This record gives sequence, C-alpha cells and structure tokens, in this order.
Amino acid sequence: MKDIGRDINPRAREFEEYRRAVRDLCGRFDNQYWQKIDEAVAYPEEFIRALTEAGWLAALIPAEYDGGGLGIAEASVILEEINRSGANSGACHAQMYVMGTILRHGSDQQKAEWLPEIAAGRLRLQAFGVTEPDVGSDTTAIKTRARRTDDGWVVDGQKVWTSRALQSDLMLLLARTTPLDKVDKKTEGLSVFLVDMRDREGQLTIKPIKTLMNHSTTEVFIDGLTLPESALIGEEGQGFRYILTGMNAERVLIAGECIGDGRFVIDRAAAYASERRVFGRPIGANQGVQFPLARAHMALEAASLMRWKAIWLYEQNLPCGAEANMAKFLASEASFAAANAAIDAHGGFGFAEEYDIERKFRETRLYQVAPISNNLVQAFIGQHVLGMPRSY
Ligand SMILES: Cc1cc2nc3c(=O)[nH]c(=O)nc-3n(C[C@H](O)[C@H](O)[C@H](O)COP(=O)(O)OP(=O)(O)OC[C@H]3O[C@@H](n4cnc5c(N)ncnc54)[C@H](O)[C@@H]3O)c2cc1C
Repeated sequence: MKDIGRDINPRAREFEEYRRAVRDLCGRFDNQYWQKIDEAVAYPEEFIRALTEAGWLAALIPAEYDGGGLGIAEASVILEEINRSGANSGACHAQMYVMGTILRHGSDQQKAEWLPEIAAGRLRLQAFGVTEPDVGSDTTAIKTRARRTDDGWVVDGQKVWTSRALQSDLMLLLARTTPLDKVDKKTEGLSVFLVDMRDREGQLTIKPIKTLMNHSTTEVFIDGLTLPESALIGEEGQGFRYILTGMNAERVLIAGECIGDGRFVIDRAAAYASERRVFGRPIGANQGVQFPLARAHMALEAASLMRWKAIWLYEQNLPCGAEANMAKFLASEASFAAANAAIDAHGGFGFAEEYDIERKFRETRLYQVAPISNNLVQAFIGQHVLGMPRSY
C-alpha cells in the first residue's frame, strides 16, 4: 500500500526506527494469537512481557530511572504501531498514560522507589482508578474518600471500569481528601495516591466486568484500604489538577492508537477489496466499496495531522488542550468509520473472527467513550475554545 501512514512530522525518519522495531516485535504475535486471547477473554501476558522486556512500555520513564527516556511523540508512534499490527494496545496503554502523573508530581523518593521497578517490568502500573459507579464524566463528584490517620491514610469507596486492576501491582487512585462542602471550588480537595495493590485481601475486592471487547476491566471495592503517607503523590488536595495535566498526553496517545487501528483495517480492507472478485471484477473497483475506504483514509490522515500539531505544542510546553482533544475526537471517529467501512468491504467475512475486522471494530469503538466521551470533547471545544455557554 503506497504511503499509507506516512507522516509529515519532520522526525518521521527517526520514528521509522521505532516503528520498525515495534512492528518486528508485534510480528511475533500473529492474528491467531490475538484471536485466541479474544476468544478466551484473556490478558495477553506473553505479548506484554515481550513489550516490557524490549523496553517499550518504559518509553516515557526517564533514562535516569532506567527507562527509555523518550517523549510523547515516540510513545504515540509506539502505540500506533501496536494497533496497526493488529494487536490491542488497550492491554498496556495505561502504563504510559499514568506515568506522567508520577513523573511530574511525584517526589524524588517516589520516583526512585517505583520507576526503576516499573521500567524493569518487576512491577506493573497499568491501573488508573478515577471513574465511579455514580460518577462518570463529572470527576469532581467522586465519593471515594481518603482520611488521614496517624501514619498515613485510610480509603473507602468504589471504583468502576478500573481496567487491568487484576493484572497490575500498582494503581493510581483519585480520592477525595476534603469533603465537597468544605472546599471553595469543587476541583479542590481531591488527591492522587499510588496504591500498592499486592496482598490487600479484604481491603480491595476486584471483580471483572464483561464487555463488548476484551479489555480486562473491573470494578474495585475499597474497604478500609490503608496507605502510608508516602503513597500521596504531590500535594494533598491538588489531585484533580494533576489528573488534568496528564490528560493532554492521554488524548494524544489515544489518538495514536486509533490511527493505528484505522490504518490496520484500511490496509486489510483495501487489500481484500483489490483481490475479492464479484461479478467478474475486484469489488474495490466499485465506488460503493472504494469510496468509504478512501474517505476513512482521508479522515485518519487529517486526524494524524492534528495529532502531530498537538504533539508539537505539547513538546514546546504550549497550551495544547484543544488540539489534544480534537486529535482524540477526530482519530476515534475516523478509526470507527474505517472499521465500519472495512466490515462493508469484507461483506459477510467482515463478521468472521478470523479476519480480525470485527475485533478491531469492537476494540476501536471504545475510544469514542473512554477515557473521555466525545460528547465531553465537543463540550470542551464549544465552551472553552468557542466561548459558548457551559452545559456543566
Ligand atoms: C472498557 C472501559 C474501560 C475503562 N477504563 C477506565 C479506567 O481504566 N479508569 C477509569 O477511571 N475509567 C475507565 N473507564 C471509564 C470511562 O472513562 C467512562 O466510561 C467515561 O469517562 C464516561 O463516563 P460514564 O461511563 O460514567 O458516562 P456518563 O458520564 O454517565 O455519561 C453518559 C453519557 O452521557 C453523556 N453526557 C454526560 N454529560 C454530558 C454533557 N454535559 N453534555 C453532553 N453529554 C453528556 C456522555 O458523553 C455519555 O455519552 C473505562 C470505560 C470503559 C467502557
């Protein structure tokens, strides 16, 4: 396929090295591997181990903590290539997202204690506990409560959609430390904790939630969870701000993942449509088959440009909230449109597991809803970029 996925980023050639290396690694895990994992609703342990051993999941950890010392652009490319190969980055992406909170707001001691362990793969930080059963998009209304004790904290509450909690050793947890009625602004009084989830019987009960796609997501019941003082990241009460500062990176990385998904299904569909013959000619010669794929490809390329714009701003430390959100929105819409077009191009075979299209269709659908719903992205653009009245 000519030039599909070519990026205009001036560092594209440099990234090619990472792309190739990730592609090579992913190539060891063929589509049958992913089909089996999906069917068994299992966690792709072997794949995650290989990614960890190759250092890819530690890409954003600075070299002084034994990580890859790479930036958000490289991380975006790594996740994109994982999905572009047909693998599912949803099994591992959080390790990259949540890292920023520790890097930016953790103490030197916390970083020295945890980061080299995570980088070496001895500990996994794949869980991020924000959403609660009664509180989704309205994060500041969370009810999980952390109270001070003589030597630390005790936490009670419940989280939902805490993905990979059963596969993680560590979880980044958002809890309210000052009740809502005692803060001036609802964004105050929330704190972030790094929770060591090992040996927490009775304090943490984790139950898997079955979902449309294989995502290892759970609900977490927190009952008298004791945490040392050292579990608090940064300043007490500033947690919402810390989570927000990580969101731009998260949006950009999600955009990369969606672009990878979209390119995977378009590559597959274009190849299939060029070979499959119906009525004596390749189905791809028909505009009804060709145009939806062409349209989806254009939308993906446009989303990728927005991704690079957001990354450029991010790297210059310039405000990039609008661009990061737009990149996530455009990429998640484009990847789903691509998967939908790819199903049509495959006809009945689009529904057959062995073609991987239906799996990608399910996997990429998530990103219109999580980690933030596209409605909320539109509200952000409408209200904060265009200055229209707020809905919340
Ligand atoms: C598979 C999966 C994995 C997830 N993993 C994690 C995780 O690891 N950690 C974590 O903390 N969370 C996780 N989430 C949660 C995810 O971030 C939330 O589902 C998402 O933020 C939406 O919240 P909600 O489901 O409570 O929807 P709600 O906030 O209840 O919203 C429901 C619908 O109403 C719309 N809506 C609400 N308010 C407005 C408004 N003002 N204007 C317009 N529309 C509005 C929303 O856009 C949405 O469409 C995951 C979710 C899923 C499905």
